[in-house]
Amino acid sequence: MKLICAYDTKEDTFAILSHNLSVADAEQQLREMRSAKIPAYSLNQPRTHNSMHPDHCPSCVRLVLKAIKSKTPNPSQDNQIARTRAVKQRHARHA
Ligand SMILES: [Zn+2]
Repeated sequence: MKLICAYDTKEDTFAILSHNLSVADAEQQLREMRSAKIPAYSLNQPRTHNSMHPDHCPSCVRLVLKAIKSKTPNPSQDNQIARTRAVKQRHARHA
């Protein structure tokens, strides 16, 4: 079974679009999303979810968050860059 989510890397937000889909249905939806330029992804869904609305499905949220974390093995990198920039700005002000 598959679920479909859209993930916006710029805004760092995601939306769950569908769940409880067969593999064929998921592939078709993905094609439609991508042709509409929506950054959609399918994820494996180990079991049927009971929520009617995927948007409010806590099981989906858990799966998506897990997938996002596994795709960004070094999530502190951005923080590191931000910190480096802040330090440089502080230096510039004092100079
Ligand atoms: Zn779900």
